[in-house]
Amino acid sequence: MKIKFLGAAGTVTGSSYALTSSSGKSILIDLGMFQGHAKIEELNYAPYDYDCTRFIGAVLTHAHLDHCGRLPILLPKGFRKQIFMTPATRDLTELSLLDSAKVAIQDSMKILYDKQLAQKTIDRFKTVNYGDETPIGDFAVRFRDAGHILGSAILEIEDMSTRGGSAVGGSAGSGIRKIVFSGDLGNFPEDLVFQTEFIDKADAVVMESTYGDRLHSEEDPSEVIKEEINAVEKSGGTLLIPAFALERTQEVLHKIMHLKKTGKIRGQTPIFLDSPMAESATEIYLDYPKLFNDHLRQDFKSGSPFVFPGLENIKRRNESYAIRHIKGPKVIIAGSGMMTGGRIVGHAAYYLSNSSTRLLIVGYQGEETLGRELMEGKKEVVIDGVNIQVKASVNTTLGMSSHADQGQLMDWLGHIQNVKKVFLTHGEDGPRKALSEIISKEIGIKDITLPVLNEEVAL
Ligand SMILES: [Zn+2]
Repeated sequence: MKIKFLGAAGTVTGSSYALTSSSGKSILIDLGMFQGHAKIEELNYAPYDYDCTRFIGAVLTHAHLDHCGRLPILLPKGFRKQIFMTPATRDLTELSLLDSAKVAIQDSMKILYDKQLAQKTIDRFKTVNYGDETPIGDFAVRFRDAGHILGSAILEIEDMSTRGGSAVGGSAGSGIRKIVFSGDLGNFPEDLVFQTEFIDKADAVVMESTYGDRLHSEEDPSEVIKEEINAVEKSGGTLLIPAFALERTQEVLHKIMHLKKTGKIRGQTPIFLDSPMAESATEIYLDYPKLFNDHLRQDFKSGSPFVFPGLENIKRRNESYAIRHIKGPKVIIAGSGMMTGGRIVGHAAYYLSNSSTRLLIVGYQGEETLGRELMEGKKEVVIDGVNIQVKASVNTTLGMSSHADQGQLMDWLGHIQNVKKVFLTHGEDGPRKALSEIISKEIGIKDITLPVLNEEVAL
């Protein structure tokens, strides 16, 4: 087998791999957008370094844009095959792709694809359930629950052309037949979905390393949200929560639901969900209660676990601006999660210079993003070319992260028997170096590669 790293090699975004069997047939694994600061996003427009007519199929781990967001570029490059994913991933990816085509046009960004092309791509989606073995050319692919977001998968991929040792390619001697792609691994126990599945055995593992250098704090994010909301209730200010539309928003809503239900915050505090995309995603969540963990399923018995008194869904942009005229304490949850675009940016420009404002960071912030600058305590930021003095209080809780931390990554990898090679992707260089060191020291795997973009490795 051969693997080519077509994204997320030295960065946390842009996931994409081409895996080629011993008999020379290739499948695509993920084709995500590069997200973050301008220089990283430029990579979306760089030529895709692979002949897409060679793919005999594609598989998608999950619906986050950094895994699926470039799929529509496949068709103009001659791809005519199917794209496999779980049913929940299909629904969420359809939403993500159509939204990202729309957002690109609204923000007059350089357009990667339009709605028609997104739709044509969606027409190639084919669903498979967790646990089923799906043959794609020479490969047998199995989706396992990654416990990261609804529908997310780890991929177990076996090269059938080497089964029984009768391979024609040059790599049969290496003994690498089964490779596992972690996709993004969950932070177990997760708030909404089931725990990440462990994999018994693999010859090679391609593993994410987003939080490869740190452990999540033990603080309870519900407590932090409670204190933040209580603080604005006292001051009459506004609490801004930038949140990704998939999973993070639902987690925040679910926690606020419990805080309101148990009287830990006032029942009537208005909470604006200023993200039509997140609202649509929440509806998709409600279509898949079978994927909810036991706690959430219990909540679901008495209605939507994401709805509570005082919640208002904002749809149109003019309604979004109108929130500013509403006096008194309030909470605004809006995307994007790293404040690189979306409605949160307008709110940030308006509210950050006010000392009664609070900003709560609840997720990963990429290097050089507005969210990262604020998280690191910058007192002056530039938004849409305007200098803004930051007088708001900024707080961070990463306990809600939907990514495994170093300990969890180690635990997951340590469960896999027989691993000869590890590739660390989907992490900045610091975290993946740190993870590499601890893997070789504690698990004893010595063959660990930190691939660079467009590197191809024979397995
Ligand atoms: Zn993800």
